[in-house]
Amino acid sequence: MSGTRAAIAAAYRELGRRGFVPGSAGNVSARTARGMLITPSGWAAEAVGARAIVAVDRDGAVRGRGVPSSEYPMHAAIYHACPQAGAIVHTHAEACTALACLGQTLPAFHYMIVAFGGDDIRCAPYVTFGTPELAAAAVAALDGRRACLLANHGMIVHAPTVAEALTDAIVLESLARQYLLARAAGSPRLLDLDELDAARARFSSYGRAGTVK
Ligand code: 13P
Ligand code: ZN
Repeated sequence: MSGTRAAIAAAYRELGRRGFVPGSAGNVSARTARGMLITPSGWAAEAVGARAIVAVDRDGAVRGRGVPSSEYPMHAAIYHACPQAGAIVHTHAEACTALACLGQTLPAFHYMIVAFGGDDIRCAPYVTFGTPELAAAAVAALDGRRACLLANHGMIVHAPTVAEALTDAIVLESLARQYLLARAAGSPRLLDLDELDAARARFSSYGRAGTVK
């Protein structure tokens, strides 16, 4: 458990170093037997160490000290809806957020999109932060996917582990930036269904066998 707290805090600080969580934006959590461990609300990333991580039970009760992230209802809803989710990263990283502010999907302009489980990264409609309505909108946009954009807000991704969720947040931000760059220069060609299926097939034997990552 203390290892998980340290991993969450380290991931959040790394997001801070990368400029993905300006001010006290964003949050990181990991599923536990009783609920989740999650970053505290309103803290700058560089100030968060393992002892600041907050334990929240499935019924929303906080165990021990600290105020959990205002987005713990969104994290809880994703853990409930996605049994394979072991960790969640939410950021306000610039490229993802810029696209989300256009209310646009990130389409299959690059084969790496399929690594997130589908043919695109959907954008959930705008809903006030920290609300159960935002939680529901995120769960709907994540259907069959491991990541989505949140309109006028940011992005969220789930993965089996904290390390993988951090990597995926970095990869998705890079893809969003590439897409915006390509659009600034012209009209990116989107991959067709056959090309996406072929990429999925290649992924089945890429890296860790049998895992699409
Ligand atoms: P917290 O500081 O409560 O985690 O909120 C940050 C955030 O990104 C809200 O959407
Ligand atoms: Zn946010």
